[in-house]
Amino acid sequence: MKELMLYLGILGPEDIQMDLIACKLGIRLKYWEYSSQAIKNKNGIQVMYLDKYLTKRQQHWDFAHELCHLLYHAGNQFTLPSHLRDFQEWKADSFAEHFCIPTFMLEKLTLPRHRQEAAGIIASLFFVNHEIADKRLRDWQQQEKAYKNHISFSEKLTEQDHLLRKECLDAVCDLYPCINQASGKEILTKCSTI
Ligand SMILES: [Zn+2]
Repeated sequence: MKELMLYLGILGPEDIQMDLIACKLGIRLKYWEYSSQAIKNKNGIQVMYLDKYLTKRQQHWDFAHELCHLLYHAGNQFTLPSHLRDFQEWKADSFAEHFCIPTFMLEKLTLPRHRQEAAGIIASLFFVNHEIADKRLRDWQQQEKAYKNHISFSEKLTEQDHLLRKECLDAVCDLYPCINQASGKEILTKCSTI
């Protein structure tokens, strides 16, 4: 996602502008009285139709959602089996969450501890609805927590593995006085790779 954003010259929330992005990607942006959708015709022309009755914020979200369909989903969605269509919809929503509120921008923010207050700041800064900001914040915080837990677990594992190897080496050297620490290490390494 970060690569796409940088390719589009998006460095901050103020750069996430539908008209500019559509122009850069060669997408024709139109407004109509039906629900939003995007099509790529046989000549490769991409057209995105946004529901003109939605608020600007909702259109912003629909733009990101439809952009995912244009960039990553080929063919007519309505001819797909329902489970594949549901999967594409889930992917497009997930893409929209990250496109509207990019992780590399979230990481730079100093947010208040109170979640609803933090979600309010995100909603206003990234021009999304409060529920979307709240969900994105919750998911991001869970990912951060999982990542930190993973790092600390890996560190503990490496530490335990090191201690275990040391104990094995001492035991081998005690049992076989002819084996010194260096050759014992070599034997243990060979054993662990078998
Ligand atoms: Zn969709």
